[in-house]
Amino acid sequence: MEYRRLGPAGLKVSLLSFGSWVTFGPQLKGDLVLDCLAAARDAGVNFFDNAEAYAGGESERIMGQAFAEMGWPRHSYVVSTKLFWGLEEGVVNMKNTLNRKYLMHAIDGSLERFGLDFVDLLFCHRPDPETPIEETVWAMSDIVSSGKALYWGTSEWSADEIRAAWDVAERHHLHKPVMEQPQYNMLARRKVEREYARLYDDIGLGLTTWSPLASGLLSGKYIDGIPEGSRGALPGYEWLRKSLTNPESTSAMKDLKAVADGLDCTMSQLALAWCARNPRVSTVITGASRVEQVRENMEALDVLALLSDDVVARIDEITKPLAH
Ligand code: NDP
Repeated sequence: MEYRRLGPAGLKVSLLSFGSWVTFGPQLKGDLVLDCLAAARDAGVNFFDNAEAYAGGESERIMGQAFAEMGWPRHSYVVSTKLFWGLEEGVVNMKNTLNRKYLMHAIDGSLERFGLDFVDLLFCHRPDPETPIEETVWAMSDIVSSGKALYWGTSEWSADEIRAAWDVAERHHLHKPVMEQPQYNMLARRKVEREYARLYDDIGLGLTTWSPLASGLLSGKYIDGIPEGSRGALPGYEWLRKSLTNPESTSAMKDLKAVADGLDCTMSQLALAWCARNPRVSTVITGASRVEQVRENMEALDVLALLSDDVVARIDEITKPLAH
């Protein structure tokens, strides 16, 4: 495993990490959770991603319980959570917000569910146009000062919003945001490759990127339709189905399969290695609904050396017309 610095921070995270969206709760419970976490850790993963909103808080509970059962020393892993959507229905100030009141309550709720004294990384899960950025920055910085989180960052914020937050922190000598969590894969490139381009050198922004397989599409599993038990077949994920099965993507996936076959690797490994190849990416957060997927995905870094300029140009030719 390779470890990269999280942007300007001294903290190092494994280039491949492991997250729990969709999977923890609906697809993974009990021993399966332990097996997946252990397989990731055996491969060198030290960063595990989570969020308050995943499975309505259940995902934090499941992960925290698994950490405790496996007895991993707290200093040996990095864990995150993300706040924004809130869990309290019908309570003013507690949903879709980054106001100070919500953030102060929400971090305590997350820590309680995890059974931890602090998370390593705390993200603002989305921007909140209704709360002044200055209020959010003060609250996040105060949470870091309180020891309930070690570093803070953003997820799916615009470059302007990240820059504004950083400026507030700089002006007031507060803890600065050090990382952003954007979607990044062969089909979702704009933010990472263009919008954030100036931020890497200007403020040293680090990236923990999500959905490296575009929810499984880039594994090639949807080429012949929607397999039973896959994310595309789950109730509640109807909104994803169209993008997983549209004829243009299916044709592109067949071409990508030929590239992967030529390199003697799987499509998932090719897609993960492609993300890891970008030096701006601190860690590629992988997801899996079974332990075999974790094992396959964790071998993706072996493919890095095979990504010649010609291979990358062919991938661009196939995917760029579909990419956003
Ligand atoms: P991917 O795009 O990699 O999708 C993962 C899913 O693809 C798996 O659950 C599995 O689904 C399928 N899959 C994975 N590996 C294989 C394989 N080798 N062969 C076949 N199918 C495979 O990542 P996620 O969308 O899960 O995102 C990763 C993490 O990023 C999340 O867990 C979360 O921590 C974070 N995230 C953050 C967001 C944010 O807003 N900040 C948003 C979304 C994710 P199945 O078996 O069910 O088909």
